Amino acid sequence: MKVVFGPVPSRRLGQSLGIDTIPLKTCNWNCVYCQLGRTQPVVNERREYIPRGEIIDQVREVLEAHHPDEIDWVTFVGSGEPTLHSGIGWLIRAVKGLTDHPVAVITNGTLLYRSEVREELAAADAIMPTLDAGTPQLYRRINRPHPQVTYERLVEGLEAFRREYEGKLWIEVMLVRGLNDTEEALRDIAAVLQRAKPDEVHIGLPTRPPAETWVEPPDEEGLMRARSILGDVARVIHPIEGTFDLSGCDSLADAIVNIITRHPMLEQDLVRTLEQWAPGEVREVLETLQTGGKAQVVQRHGARFWSSAPAHYPTEARSQAVDPRH
Ligand code: SF4
Repeated sequence: MKVVFGPVPSRRLGQSLGIDTIPLKTCNWNCVYCQLGRTQPVVNERREYIPRGEIIDQVREVLEAHHPDEIDWVTFVGSGEPTLHSGIGWLIRAVKGLTDHPVAVITNGTLLYRSEVREELAAADAIMPTLDAGTPQLYRRINRPHPQVTYERLVEGLEAFRREYEGKLWIEVMLVRGLNDTEEALRDIAAVLQRAKPDEVHIGLPTRPPAETWVEPPDEEGLMRARSILGDVARVIHPIEGTFDLSGCDSLADAIVNIITRHPMLEQDLVRTLEQWAPGEVREVLETLQTGGKAQVVQRHGARFWSSAPAHYPTEARSQAVDPRH
């Protein structure tokens, strides 16, 4: 299994070499906006999902194949919650032993309340947790967590980590129209951010296919409200531009599966990304992958996205049934 991907353009980290330490949607949250569909089932077990030696061998191989200038960050990120891998601390230290590139971990932050997880993450240069809600009620509506990862533990973990951690703490707030872009919700989030004292706040927008059909980014007014309430450390992270490195892929089918497993994409963007192949050829391979059960089309807001076939995207009716705004 390929666990290292890219470098890929990252909205926050330039050209980022991604390390995906866990199988698709191994996560203790089930966010309404998750681009990888619903989490089924929601899990909170820490274990060595993929052998650490196998992961580090792949990292070494990919680092050797690239000139250092082609990579800005090495990032633990991917198709679920990376801190559920019990070897995350060992892996961070091992990567730092292989390269001088800075190392980041994109996490939902739920396990930071555990001292051993905080110690494991301490060696990374940047930790990027998520905080979408300023109350337990809104947290349950947006992130739909495993029962063990309560809101109190999330906030407690962020505060404890800030006290101990010397690297960069960048907290992401993903904004969903009608849920956390109201004045009240934003003021609640701002109050928690004041206690967590991040170096930066990154305002994210759900631009890829959301798990639930009714999830939309805020309008311009909502965005302006967020910028003014979340303060000077907050900035909006706009959609990515850049190139995907596909040099490690053996074929067009391999390249497509590699991209859409971690980054579901609009059909036209996918064709543009794969410009070294003829558009007709790309569409033909997409259809073959769909028929063969390796890729699927996800319709959201009138647009066609491609994602990996095992991801769970509910139908309009099933999604409407859980819309908390009704
Ligand atoms: S967005 Fe991240 S934290 Fe939320 S369900 Fe998806 S993988 Fe898990």
